[in-house]
Amino acid sequence: MFGTMMYQALTTGSLIDHAEKYHAGTEIVSVETDGQITRSNWGEVGVNARRMKAALDKLGVSDGARCATIAWNNRRHLELYFGIGSGGRVVHTINPRLTPEQMIYIFNHAGDEVLFVDRTFLPIVAKLGEHLKTVKHYVLMGPRDEEAAAMVEGLLFYDEMLAENDPVPEWPDVDENSPVVLCYTSGTTGNPKGVQYSHRSLILHTIGGNQPDGMSIAARDVVMPVVPMFHVNAWGSTYIAAGVGSKLVLPGPNLDGESLVRLIDSEKVTISLGVPTIWMGLLAALKSTGIKPDSMKRTVVGGSALPPSMIRDFREKYGVELIHAWGMTETSPLGTLNQMLEKHSGLSESEKFKLREGQGRPPWGVDVRIVDAEGNELPRDGKTQGELQVRGHWIVESYFGQENHALTDDGWFDTGDVATLDSDGYLVIRDRSKDIIKSGGEWISTVELENIAIAHPKIANAAAIAAYHPKWDERPVVIAVPDEGETPTEEEIIASYDGKVASWQVPDKVIFVDELPIGATGKVLKNKLRETYGDVLTKEA
Ligand code: ADP
Repeated sequence: MFGTMMYQALTTGSLIDHAEKYHAGTEIVSVETDGQITRSNWGEVGVNARRMKAALDKLGVSDGARCATIAWNNRRHLELYFGIGSGGRVVHTINPRLTPEQMIYIFNHAGDEVLFVDRTFLPIVAKLGEHLKTVKHYVLMGPRDEEAAAMVEGLLFYDEMLAENDPVPEWPDVDENSPVVLCYTSGTTGNPKGVQYSHRSLILHTIGGNQPDGMSIAARDVVMPVVPMFHVNAWGSTYIAAGVGSKLVLPGPNLDGESLVRLIDSEKVTISLGVPTIWMGLLAALKSTGIKPDSMKRTVVGGSALPPSMIRDFREKYGVELIHAWGMTETSPLGTLNQMLEKHSGLSESEKFKLREGQGRPPWGVDVRIVDAEGNELPRDGKTQGELQVRGHWIVESYFGQENHALTDDGWFDTGDVATLDSDGYLVIRDRSKDIIKSGGEWISTVELENIAIAHPKIANAAAIAAYHPKWDERPVVIAVPDEGETPTEEEIIASYDGKVASWQVPDKVIFVDELPIGATGKVLKNKLRETYGDVLTKEA
């Protein structure tokens, strides 16, 4: 038949092919597990990925097999994204901060055949030992290491596997709907659930998420994903970097503020990505080192609510634009990103600032709505709160290994978040439905209370939780970490809510602690805080 266009499957092999062919010399900077910096480029990453494909074939690893990684953001991990995934197998990234029980559950549920592990995490793997029922091959991501070999029987070495295998000449033809990455949610409630991205969903996420109003990463950018490659593919940034051929800076294990500041400065990073807790550390390091991150223009921040005071600090003191984004493992993860419209150009600075506080709008490819408890759509008026639902090309349909689909009867995914939407689709996350405080039948947003506490000059971090109250059911309590050297009083923190929220929303109590419990993906564990402080109001009454 004539009059047709070429068909090429949308596969991740096309991303690394493009990078290898058109951006071969563009640098990949990698901090290794021992802290050493190594330099390679897209050309070498492409060749090594094709070598790894050949090595897995030779080992007899089956097509479509799930191959797990427990690794930092580094060059070998990047090569595995393609060597495993583009080679027709499934990259299963595992969060090393999970508990051993969660890890065992995930390994056996996923049925991983191979496990690639960084030297740092080998002791964890050695302990899991016989609990991993399906793993046939263990590979250390590095050169031969006799001490490591003594820890795990039959341990293979990544660098030897590369050296012993010629690269496959090209990537196999795979169905674009076949799976390429498997990622489990962190399982703060119940067992972790597996979300499996297809080649097609991942490519559409790469293109859709990187539009000018999205991440907007270009070949001339230097991208530093601080968000781990085991946390929803570093939010897609490594695939986007391959697709556009930008330089990548992979920070390895050194995620403290000072190491990051030095890396940004020496590698001339232009855009970075990470959760708010990471940028809190970075802000402190910028202050203490006096380094100005001159190259850095933008940072994509998401995963939990970004305190507005941080947006202001980065912008006013360092000229860095924080782009607030919302997403979840189930949304690959880019759901919304905050960029302005043309009509906002005339707004005052404070109005623009207000707009930037929210989580932004969906790019092409994602559709959002808010509904009430019965599933009726609620108005997009910027005021009405409802349950946030999404649908689109890169949104989960069903969880890995579960028979039912995960959607509403009319095909939307219920996020478990409570939000407002305005007529332009700007989203403001008010809370997770399980965290929101229900006081006397009214809802109080923990995010809003936290933002006010964090904006206080003597407070470094804060979390608001619902504490049981005999009359109102729940009342807000704020757990706050003072800034170093500061000793704020409860009264002054409570006073800072004056005029910012309605009087019935002002927290009943502020408790000071040295640190907040942080979960495997860098978020404050509010369920832990509720366990500890949930009865604090009745105890004292
Ligand atoms: P989990 O932590 O449950 O494993 P995810 O890492 O997928 O899973 O987290 C998704 C959740 O994180 C969202 O449902 C939302 O509650 C929260 N979240 C993500 N980005 C933001 C943001 N920018 N503001 C507020 N909450 C966010």
